[in-house]
Amino acid sequence: MEGSRRDFLKLGGACALGLGALPVVKAAAEGEQPEVFSNPNALTGTRWAMVVDMKKCWEKSKNGCQDCMDACHKVHNVPRIEGPKEEIKWIWTEHFENAFPGRGSELSEMREKPFVVMCNHCYNPPCVRVCPTKATFKRESDGIVLMDMHRCIGCRYCMAACPFGARSFNFRDPRPFVEELNMDYPTRERGVVEKCNFCAERLAEGRMPACVEACKCGALVFGDLDDPESDVRKIVASHFTIRRKTELGTEPNVFYIV
Ligand code: SF4
Repeated sequence: MEGSRRDFLKLGGACALGLGALPVVKAAAEGEQPEVFSNPNALTGTRWAMVVDMKKCWEKSKNGCQDCMDACHKVHNVPRIEGPKEEIKWIWTEHFENAFPGRGSELSEMREKPFVVMCNHCYNPPCVRVCPTKATFKRESDGIVLMDMHRCIGCRYCMAACPFGARSFNFRDPRPFVEELNMDYPTRERGVVEKCNFCAERLAEGRMPACVEACKCGALVFGDLDDPESDVRKIVASHFTIRRKTELGTEPNVFYIV
């Protein structure tokens, strides 16, 4: 009985995440295990990672473009709320000095440049360690750091623990601020934290993250760092890349070519 209850809760968690495409659950008669069908086209990996080639990004436009941010925020119903305190963001730009504090002398020519930043889906995520309700967790199968909005109690410990400012808090009901509602993805409510999910719902359907798909200059490359044949692995092995605040030991899975 306990086993089936645990499985039910797991499935409930997946639905709560808005990962409708992840498992398809067929209703079961009372006392039976539900049947779960995975999408055979799902993209699978054991350590998803992103490479952001800022050189390509700046080539297109001095200050980069908005395509990746617009695409991400549109598919995930991220509200547009003005003001630094209440702003909700999954992917955005930071000046080099803010994104990479302490590296200014080494890479001084970058100082004024904007960098595309997001949740790093850290290998050792401090946000996960501090969450009292396990609303945020690292998915064992592929390392994505996810949120279960139904478990989030809005304590914001995760925001305090994240050294990258990658999480936003809904101080008010975000729904009136969603410009174009995507019915295929859940909205959030007042009092919960949200952030980039590496497009877990799209991977489950065999699709690349929305930002990667929207980037026309090929500056964003996504793949499995554990796969020696993946583009991300080859790029990281063959290029000079930097990651944010590596001295903190969180092991970010977002790499930058500068
Ligand atoms: Fe957690 Fe922040 Fe790392 Fe994302 S960037 S996994 S929110 S610590």
